[in-house]
Amino acid sequence: MPQREDVHYFGAGPAPLPTPVLQDAAKALLNYNDMGIGIAEMSHRSPDANKVLADAKAAMATLLDIPTDDYEILFLQSGGSGEFSAVVYNMVGIWVERMREFVEKKHASASEEERFQRLKSAVEKYLRLDYLVTGSWSLKASQEAARLMGKEYVHVVCDSREQDSGKFRSIPDEKTWRLDRPTSEDFGDLPMPSAFTYLCDNETVDGVEFPGFPAALESAAHDRLVVADMSSNFISRKVDVRKYAVIFGGAQKNIGTTGITIVIVRKNLLPPHASMASSVLMRKLGLSVGPIVLDWATIAKNNSLYNTLPIFDVWVAGQVMQRLVSLHGTIAGQEAVSDDKAALLYGVLDKHPDAYQVVPSRSARSRMNICLRIKQGDEAAEKKFLGEATGLGLLGLKGHRSVGGIRISNCKRCNVTGDARGHGDTDTGVADNAVSLDAAKKLARFLDSFAQS
Ligand code: PMP
Repeated sequence: MPQREDVHYFGAGPAPLPTPVLQDAAKALLNYNDMGIGIAEMSHRSPDANKVLADAKAAMATLLDIPTDDYEILFLQSGGSGEFSAVVYNMVGIWVERMREFVEKKHASASEEERFQRLKSAVEKYLRLDYLVTGSWSLKASQEAARLMGKEYVHVVCDSREQDSGKFRSIPDEKTWRLDRPTSEDFGDLPMPSAFTYLCDNETVDGVEFPGFPAALESAAHDRLVVADMSSNFISRKVDVRKYAVIFGGAQKNIGTTGITIVIVRKNLLPPHASMASSVLMRKLGLSVGPIVLDWATIAKNNSLYNTLPIFDVWVAGQVMQRLVSLHGTIAGQEAVSDDKAALLYGVLDKHPDAYQVVPSRSARSRMNICLRIKQGDEAAEKKFLGEATGLGLLGLKGHRSVGGIRISNCKRCNVTGDARGHGDTDTGVADNAVSLDAAKKLARFLDSFAQS
């Protein structure tokens, strides 16, 4: 029977957790801090639970250098998919309220009915949800927006499939992005702000990652509210949080166990600076009203404890992030190791172009999910590859069911010293007990020998 130390798991998520965190978790589940009860058995409103939450937030803020005066960090249970809906509900509600305030001010002397009609007409003419569709997850998010709002409100800024024969393989040139916005006489012919501009920073299924914050979104900044899904590259590289209105991601890939989602939201989108249009007004306008458990303002007001938060999952995420803080201080160290692992693996794939074809274009290659085909998608060869890999304890390499092929999800979580498995990385002196540089090296050796065979 294989033990943890016998295998390396490269699945996209849920993904390996550091063994010492799991060992501590086993103790915490039985008897947390010598209290006589386990962490999953105590109230989410107890002082101990509050400390778990505060510590996890602090570690996240340190790692990503989040300016906490201006950003709120929320923990909730929506999953990444739940945030596809939450983004729409919250951001549209905020946009409508801003528009309502504007109409109220500008047409103060008009009747209530006339003001309502003006607002309704502004919603119909100008409300726009901008989506950069660069892979399966941003596509899903845009489809959810269309389901909730109607597709007439969803504006596709770019869609990689238009240039890649229906596949997601690259990020379209920014010059081709449809970022223009309708102007309004009512607003002195100024471009009307979209409710938000959405991107998925790393497309887990397709292996496509934005190399950094898109320049086109900076130059078109004029109150553009950028929302990013970082579910699969969270805490893997430095991020200038200030460029985003909202960043979200599920914890289960890079941070912790399945069960919690983290949302980093700019405070000026929350009360007292901003609020969402009332549910009565939204209904009257024919727009969706979201469930309260996805309402960021409510969650922020209740310190992420509006309803029962799985504190055990917050604790695991906190432990993983605190280990990274104690090892590196900031995210720079983790970023360097992630980059090294990706460079090593892409290096060996590029060395054997007859055997391996990396699916995404070079400029959009993900550091987190390396998607490839063997011999142009020869399924027998891919099956053989997966069989041999499994024999060597290299698991979780099958591509997503929607695209097939092979996927190496190589950049998970922690590099910690004192690895309980004794998997020290002899080159760097740093041990990594999630997906280590050692694991990447073992896989690289296998890739090399499989190509030669
Ligand atoms: N966004 C991305 C980039 C993902 O990779 C995933 C899950 N693989 C999701 C969203 C959906 O997350 P969840 O399963 O937590 O709803």
